[in-house]
Amino acid sequence: MSLIVHKYGGTSMASTERIQNVAKRVAKWQRAGHQMVVVPSAMSGETNRLLGLAKEITDNPDPRELDQIAATGEQVSVGLLSLALHKQGVKAKSYTGWQVPVRTDSAFTKARIESIDDARVRQDLDNGYVVIVTGFQGIDPSGSITTLGRGGSDTSAVAVAAALGAEECLIYTDVDGVYTTDPRIVAEAKRLERVTFEEMLEMASLGSKVLQIRSVEFAGKYKLKTRVLSSLTDPDMNLAQEAQSGTLITYEEDEIMEQAVISGIAFNRDEAKITVAGVPDKPGIAYKILGPVAAANIDVDMIIQNASHDGMTDFSFTVHRNELKKALEVIQGKVQPEIQAREISSAADICKVSVVGIGMRSHVGIASQMFETLSKEGINIQMISTSEIKISVVIDDKYMELAVRALHKAFGLEA
Ligand code: ADP
Ligand code: ASP
Ligand code: MG
Repeated sequence: MSLIVHKYGGTSMASTERIQNVAKRVAKWQRAGHQMVVVPSAMSGETNRLLGLAKEITDNPDPRELDQIAATGEQVSVGLLSLALHKQGVKAKSYTGWQVPVRTDSAFTKARIESIDDARVRQDLDNGYVVIVTGFQGIDPSGSITTLGRGGSDTSAVAVAAALGAEECLIYTDVDGVYTTDPRIVAEAKRLERVTFEEMLEMASLGSKVLQIRSVEFAGKYKLKTRVLSSLTDPDMNLAQEAQSGTLITYEEDEIMEQAVISGIAFNRDEAKITVAGVPDKPGIAYKILGPVAAANIDVDMIIQNASHDGMTDFSFTVHRNELKKALEVIQGKVQPEIQAREISSAADICKVSVVGIGMRSHVGIASQMFETLSKEGINIQMISTSEIKISVVIDDKYMELAVRALHKAFGLEA
């Protein structure tokens, strides 16, 4: 008998009918002899609706209260799923994050899980219950409810699985696995049977929202067997077949040596660019600009500094779009009086497109192939960054789909 964690996303929980399908699937796994923990998201659209209500009241909501509001979506889900399991004749009990408890830090709206107390869950499992734990939320040291950032139920599921020493964490979603790129953008995208943990980490961090990045980090840290698969198949399908479907995240690189050099294309529309033009090109300038940004707890992603002319240079960097306003305030208020830049400008109409693959380590020329492909489409590159297994470019937002399709084709990723 093994302990299995299932995670169901918003689409999988979208209606009471879908929830009853989830219950059937979970009941099937339990009947096969597994101890089951289930981590569902809020019903699809619900988190947006809740955050929208807050926005109707204020443009600048207190993040603590936002979490208080947003966390309710998952509480409804766990209760409904528990009822649906009872209807299947299965003993089930639901918990919110604070009841478990899932302990986090106090970074409201983007909290990190610090520890999970497994005692209660274990006791229920030993007494034959299916245990349902809310995704997306936890409790901070002062007793406030926190949420883990959008898409955070993936992280809840993987963290719960790691805390319980589960055999496997299955992430059920509205696609049947991890694809070479978002199948909603490129119809010819191909499902990957396996993807290495490192590639998945890059893809998630570069914008493939199929898994929240922190869930991949957790999975890697604990070498947890993690699989992404469809919740939209027949819940009564053969269990052995279901257990082998989807995409497995692997920790053994040589298992997929045969695979293409590039395994996927990721894109991200969440960033915005700030340019500080006409600053003196002398030691300490990057620190003078980015120090106060970091002190304001704003993450900076890509950075470029231009060649200097007459002792002056231009400096650009990207931040999350949600933090653009805050970052500009820091630059205008704290940085500008110090450095006296000629001009400060920003652009939110950018996107980042990345090619990812561990095969890049042993192949040269991937970057030039990428740049050639974009140049043939007449797409201007604004920023570039690379690592051992990825190349990212920032381009004009309006070319995003064109760039992703062209690169997907150029690297031979089509099914
Ligand atoms: P859930 O509600 O189940 O958490 P999400 O919407 O968060 O589902 O994630 C699934 C979606 O991720 C898919 O519908 C797909 O559009 C998108 N996606 C983005 N990149 C990829 C990729 N490389 N492979 C598969 N799906 C992807
Ligand atoms: N309900 C949350 C969201 O919409 C968490 C999740 O679905 O993973 O972001
Ligand atoms: Mg998700």
